[in-house]
Amino acid sequence: MNRAAVLKQGKGPVVVEEIEVPRPGPGQVLVKMEACGVCHSDLFIAGLEKLPLVPLVLGHEGIGRVVETSPAAGSYKAGDRIGITFLASSCAVCEWCASERERFCPKQLNSGYTSAGVLAQYACVAAQHLVRVPEKQPAAELAPLCCAGWTAYAAVRETGLEPGRTLAVFGMGGLGHLAVQYAIHRKLRVAAVDVEPTKLELAREIGASIVVPAENAGRALQKQHGGVDAAVVLTPSVSAIGQALRALKRCGTLVLVGLSPEAFELPVIDTVMKGITLRGSFLGTRSDLAEVFRLAESGAARPRVERHALEETPELLEKMHRGELLGRAVIEF
Ligand SMILES: [Zn+2]
Ligand SMILES: [Zn+2]
Repeated sequence: MNRAAVLKQGKGPVVVEEIEVPRPGPGQVLVKMEACGVCHSDLFIAGLEKLPLVPLVLGHEGIGRVVETSPAAGSYKAGDRIGITFLASSCAVCEWCASERERFCPKQLNSGYTSAGVLAQYACVAAQHLVRVPEKQPAAELAPLCCAGWTAYAAVRETGLEPGRTLAVFGMGGLGHLAVQYAIHRKLRVAAVDVEPTKLELAREIGASIVVPAENAGRALQKQHGGVDAAVVLTPSVSAIGQALRALKRCGTLVLVGLSPEAFELPVIDTVMKGITLRGSFLGTRSDLAEVFRLAESGAARPRVERHALEETPELLEKMHRGELLGRAVIEF
């Protein structure tokens, strides 16, 4: 018995159905899943016309226990509690793999995209990039850290801000509410930006000192708060990028994370004359991932989760599409 959330073809539909329990190939382990978060990337992948692998089991932020190992699966053994991320495997020899930037490996495989995902009761995953996770915490509270937490933590770190500086976080969804907590842990002053008043309320609750509605956020942050030292844009909305640029102080840094399918027209003169640094940020390093779980264990950052059953996955993706999820939706098995 192995029920899974399966994307049947490009542009959907996503259905929950019975599939075979997979057998671990060389370097893989079979995992009995405890929980898996539903990520914006699942929605992005489900909306693509052409997919490298169909039908495709979705899901890439999972917590589970190893049931069976295979040769070359490292030191993992049955019973180990592990986390699975979007980075399923990488080549281990290219210049990016050789410099702890495996997430940019051109030959990487991604869970729930170019390799089978983990929104399933049982999944086979490569051991290469698994992470050991705390034993005691509920799986539902750990799962969002494998993607949302990891990505948000790295994006905040990559702003390079010193304590006391001001960071604007655009998008208060699954990543944003964690980014706020990581920024506060780094002793930054946080300005939270979103279109939804309920999400801004949540930001205030978890410690953002400034909350600003998305419309005209750039101008508001400049006029009322003197601008921000850095901004991370987590939403896939292209208008947020313009607002974030406008919010930056001179010599500010803009970190882009949200995957906007639209192009953005860069105001070149402002970018040059204000000495703006612009960078993309994708997932994080191995040590970022380990740190995210340490912070969860110490209670410094905790995701807000809504727990759901696997059967609800298609409906949750719809809700996410409409921007109706507060915090992170997690499937419990
Ligand atoms: Zn994700
Ligand atoms: Zn590589």
